[in-house]
Amino acid sequence: MARLVAVANQKGGVAKTTTVHALAYALAGLGRRVLMVDFDPQADLTFCTGLDRASFKSSMYEVLRGDVRATDACVPLSCSDRLDVLPATFDLFVAEVDLAPQIGREYALARALAPLRDSYDFVLIDCPPSLGLLTVNALTAADDVVIPTQCETLSDRGISQLLELVGDVHMFTNPALQVRGIIATMFDHHTTHNRSVLAELRNRHGIPVFEPPVRRTIRFAEATPTGMCLLEYAPGSAASESYRRLAETIDAGVAADSRFLSPGSPVLVRDRFQGRWTDGFDIAEVRGSEYVVRRLSDDSILPGRFKPEEIRQGVRAVSNWA
Ligand code: ADP
Ligand code: MG
Repeated sequence: MARLVAVANQKGGVAKTTTVHALAYALAGLGRRVLMVDFDPQADLTFCTGLDRASFKSSMYEVLRGDVRATDACVPLSCSDRLDVLPATFDLFVAEVDLAPQIGREYALARALAPLRDSYDFVLIDCPPSLGLLTVNALTAADDVVIPTQCETLSDRGISQLLELVGDVHMFTNPALQVRGIIATMFDHHTTHNRSVLAELRNRHGIPVFEPPVRRTIRFAEATPTGMCLLEYAPGSAASESYRRLAETIDAGVAADSRFLSPGSPVLVRDRFQGRWTDGFDIAEVRGSEYVVRRLSDDSILPGRFKPEEIRQGVRAVSNWA
């Protein structure tokens, strides 16, 4: 059963596409079967994987419309027998308009990808740079979201806005969505500003920041026109190593959903009677493999201890940054 991971940030140029490509390649290196879904009308991921328009008949647009089955649109990549791409074209811009008046419009991608779940271990979704309907579809379909960001003040502000959208998704379409973590990209460890924003990122949102940050390197720009992934083009670079570490963490996370939770982490709690997920709690204490949970509205401690399957990573709204 595949785990669906959305790579999202409404800012452009923060390395969403690069992260999907590198993470997919690294997960395939761990023996996992991986599908990369290009869900950005700019179709950068399709381009980066070396596919040209002649090498595929149908794309995400036809799949989203229901004209073609997702299984029939996936294209295997020559660099690995464990890597496929569901390509996109510029047409995907129109999909957002087509979907807008439809009932259940937030679920179109979830519906389309459901039949693929048994064919892969991971499905990575490259989101467009917006908080619009396509991103909402990706977050509704996904089990996890990973947020790439540069370590700059305005990028950090964008994360607060994205987390507000995640809060809405939790409430309306996908209460089980987990914010797996933030990945700092294009990191320059010589820059004081980069270092101080990274330090703040670790505290501000109550969600994990993957280690180590991905260093800035010209090797990405060099790799792109070759159709090779950075990990193939420059396997020894520090950035490649960061993406391999990210892959190991994501892969391990499948078996241990709640391992990032620590005191202060915001969580959703599953109602023991109705099975619904409710927001507005954090971890007060970790006791072995169980958790003591606090209600944020009145600081009260909930009775009993909670098992990992009864809580989910939540998000902390940082309203003064919105
Ligand atoms: P997004 O999908 O968020 O718009 P991209 O993945 O397209 O971002 O990356 C934007 C640009 O930054 C691309 O030219 C890419 O090659 C470059 N890039 C990504 N990661 C790095 C890095 N660690 N060092 C240097 N350049 C990078
Ligand atoms: Mg992109």
